[in-house]
Amino acid sequence: MKGGKLIIFSAPSGSGKTTIVRYLLEQQDLNLAFSVSATSRLSRGEEKNGEHYYFLSVTEFKKHIKNDDFLEWEEVYRDNFYGTLKSEVERLCAEGKNVIFDIDVAGGLRIKKKFPKETLAVFVKPPSVDELKIRLKKRSTENDDKINMRIAKASVELATAPQFDSIIKNYDLDIALKEARELVAEFIRN
Ligand code: 5GP
Repeated sequence: MKGGKLIIFSAPSGSGKTTIVRYLLEQQDLNLAFSVSATSRLSRGEEKNGEHYYFLSVTEFKKHIKNDDFLEWEEVYRDNFYGTLKSEVERLCAEGKNVIFDIDVAGGLRIKKKFPKETLAVFVKPPSVDELKIRLKKRSTENDDKINMRIAKASVELATAPQFDSIIKNYDLDIALKEARELVAEFIRN
């Protein structure tokens, strides 16, 4: 893949990685573009097709798997497929952008393995699993079952942190944002 650098932010759900990714996208000098993933989950609240995700049916998603259209894909939660379309990353790289991903740890590590030199893989660490639970409840975008499913996955995901290039501790958001900005700026510069 020619062109830009690939910046991955992975973390357990509720760690604040989406907030960090949004902040980085606002920093014009980093020349970042967001990799819009495909998903078979339903859209929540204000989410727009093509902006937050490409919302697909399970059948459509599976068709893309069969056609080998994904750089990586995961059944992140039962019946909820998520994946990065090759076409999305190729398009953004062709525009001369650095591409930023908000994806789960397995997907993040898979992209890092495919493009080790071009990729910066960052793990965002929450203060604790209890704090994650509080944040997910506060966000109230999921019901209790879904929250418990995300919490159960979090412990497994936390164990993968050492496999990432860098770990950002999101205990204090302002500090985490500053750290993320410096990390990405340095990677892009080199
Ligand atoms: P949510 O349903 O909260 O939007 O996302 C659930 C999880 O799926 C998050 O950890 C998110 O980062 C991850 N995710 C989103 N897009 C992708 C993708 O394209 N591939 C993979 N592997 N995970 C993704």
